[in-house]
Amino acid sequence: EAKLDLIKKHIKVFPDFPSKGVLFRDICPLLKDPLALTAVTDLLEEHVRLTHPEVDLIVGLDARGFLFGPLLAQRLGVGFVVIRKKGKLPGPTVSVSYTLEYGQAEVEVQEDAVYPGQKVLLIDDLLATGGTLYAACELMKKKQADLLGCMVVIELKDLRGFERVKPISVFSLVQY
Ligand code: 5GP
Repeated sequence: EAKLDLIKKHIKVFPDFPSKGVLFRDICPLLKDPLALTAVTDLLEEHVRLTHPEVDLIVGLDARGFLFGPLLAQRLGVGFVVIRKKGKLPGPTVSVSYTLEYGQAEVEVQEDAVYPGQKVLLIDDLLATGGTLYAACELMKKKQADLLGCMVVIELKDLRGFERVKPISVFSLVQY
């Protein structure tokens, strides 16, 4: 499809970033090109309207989930909520800690941001090992949200992140 080709053309690859051996997929060119960014929003919107038209909230992951999530939420006419790394959000929060390659990290959401039973879709730019999305799923479970699924622009298939997130499904636009 033409929109997918346009998206792929605007994802740049950087070998050995942020550390040796890592192939980093950079989405900055996607943001810089208005037609490519519109294509991302179009395809995500199409997916949600087909599969989860009942969605109440789009919940985005810190930090690059924030670049795509609000555009999608506006198209759908629903709200956008942020999941942030620990210590960034004011007021009462709920948090989940998770294991990274080196050490621990924690993500949190404002306590009143998601109500029990609200139908939620998670969004991030990229799925690698799935650790980040898994923690976000746990956070939504803690909030008793009705988690419909996850969406990413890019999925690194070899790392099998979708298995970590199971039984929640992950929809991706571009796979490597
Ligand atoms: P995971 O937790 O699935 O291993 O890593 C996914 C998280 O790390 C996402 O929040 C994503 O933004 C970031 N990430 C890891 N690798 C890349 C990459 O190659 N490109 C981009 N844009 N983000 C990455």
